[in-house]
Amino acid sequence: MAEFEAVIGLEVHAQLRTQSKIFCTCSTTFGAEPNENVCPVCSGMPGVLPVLNEKVVEYAAKMGLAVDCAINPVSVFARKNYFYPDLPKGYQTSQYELPICEHGHVDILTEAGPKTVGVTRIHMEEDAGKNIHAQGENASYVDLNRSCVPLIEIVSEPDMRSATEAVAYLKELRAILVYLGICDGNMEEGSFRCDANVSIRPKGQREFGTRAELKNLNSFRHVQKAIEYEIERQTECVEDGVPVVQETRLYNAEKNVTVSMRGKEEANDYRYFPCPDLVPVRLDAGKIDAWRTQLPELPRARRERFERELGLSSADSGLLTAERDLADYFESAVAAYDQPKKLCNWIMSELARELNEAKKPAQDSPLTPANLAKLVRLVDEGLISGKIGKQIFSELFATGTDPEELVKAKGLVQISDTSALEAAVDKVLADSPSEVEAYRGGKTKLMGFFVGQVMKATKGQANPGLVNEMLRKKLG
Ligand code: ADP
Ligand code: MG
Ligand code: ZN
Repeated sequence: MAEFEAVIGLEVHAQLRTQSKIFCTCSTTFGAEPNENVCPVCSGMPGVLPVLNEKVVEYAAKMGLAVDCAINPVSVFARKNYFYPDLPKGYQTSQYELPICEHGHVDILTEAGPKTVGVTRIHMEEDAGKNIHAQGENASYVDLNRSCVPLIEIVSEPDMRSATEAVAYLKELRAILVYLGICDGNMEEGSFRCDANVSIRPKGQREFGTRAELKNLNSFRHVQKAIEYEIERQTECVEDGVPVVQETRLYNAEKNVTVSMRGKEEANDYRYFPCPDLVPVRLDAGKIDAWRTQLPELPRARRERFERELGLSSADSGLLTAERDLADYFESAVAAYDQPKKLCNWIMSELARELNEAKKPAQDSPLTPANLAKLVRLVDEGLISGKIGKQIFSELFATGTDPEELVKAKGLVQISDTSALEAAVDKVLADSPSEVEAYRGGKTKLMGFFVGQVMKATKGQANPGLVNEMLRKKLG
């Protein structure tokens, strides 16, 4: 039987973090009352004209520069015509033949090594409103707050060959947008959305197979699962001699399947044409160069710097840099205490767990980077044991207390005083005669038991190195 390979291309919509909408001065704030942020322009009244928000152009161009696109000196808005109640003008103002950015690429890491995914184009457009189908009421409502909120659409080449590669590409795109500060990257709230085009072909064949477009993917996990399911479904089709048809399919997360939504015959004919209400966007080289110099350090450069200058593994630096504010937190902690690997371990385990439970981003952590650095230093210098450090972590996180003060107030300083420890060790040995006998008879694995007992007796405050040494002498 022929072996198949998947071909995947992604269309990503990112909501831009501007204060006002793309063609009017209405606010883009999330969570307002329905139709609170609406004016004659974004509600599609006749006789009004759109005025382009300059920030949208800047943000779209910056994303283009970040992924090595060519920025077109002239780009044109076009009308994409279709009928839907959440689209009051009857067309979406978008870009078509002349988008603002073209021919870029994003580099990702795959199991087989580094790989480049082409970015076909990035264009600017407006979002639509939202239909609300009221439960138990024979009515539907339209909320136009989101109408005219600025988006960029980022279209990839069909360069990905597995669900894992598609997710790696998406995560990298999202990280770049967040680093640039132009999108909040929130997939659940829909400010970062993705449609996946999936086809299969026999390995070695050059021509692409017929693709299905998957929608309703609102987490990385859903993207992964939906693509995996779709590859399997298409493979079965071909093996059964049923041709794959070009169509749009919806992902159902509950059942983990994709379901046909509309076929090619029902596909929209958008009748694109240049928008006569908006002049072409002209950018001179000086402006583009100025934006280029404003780009921050991007995720990939930061990842490589963490590996090169701080000696972190690529896995560690990948995890740390995926979220910009976590990487910022880490760098502040390293500035306070130059032990990158140790700080990374505490951040990726203890801190990550607390942040996750509290549903907080790193920048809102009550435990400051400087205080985390202090805590790790206390452990390193042997003032408290690692075990105590972990025990007090939740309290430090919840209260933001200075670790030195908490350790002092609670009397948690590690017992490194030999005479104090000796008493505890002697007591444990005296209380466990059968274990002592078994140990001396060759069951040396019992060492762990003795250490554990001493730690318990000292409420975790004993210096484990010293305890080990003392036990070995006494039992030896
Ligand atoms: P449309 O606007 O109809 O969705 P595009 O030409 O803009 O069509 O392509 C959309 C996406 O589909 C792009 O990301 C592209 O890489 C991808 N794509 C095109 N052909 C295939 C294919 N045969 N298999 C998988 N993806 C494809
Ligand atoms: Mg499409
Ligand atoms: Zn408006």
